[in-house]
Amino acid sequence: MNPQPAARPGPLQPDAVDALLLDTTPYLSCEECFERIDGHVEALLRNDPPDPALDRHLQGCAACDEEARSLAALLSEDGARPTPAG
Ligand SMILES: [Zn+2]
Repeated sequence: MNPQPAARPGPLQPDAVDALLLDTTPYLSCEECFERIDGHVEALLRNDPPDPALDRHLQGCAACDEEARSLAALLSEDGARPTPAG
């Protein structure tokens, strides 16, 4: 009958903890992103798995994404190796 007033969250279940950990990818500043971006782009060009934190940042940051794209274009022209999937 009585609506429960703001139920207190119980102890976290292990899968809830996992979900939280997934969500808390380390925050990268643009500065940190720029420091690592060339390695990230090189990894992409080699078809290596990208740094998830950096990848996440690029998805949310148009400026760094733009930087990554132009760097990728530059490296792929420069490196005389064929780009995977255009
Ligand atoms: Zn950024």
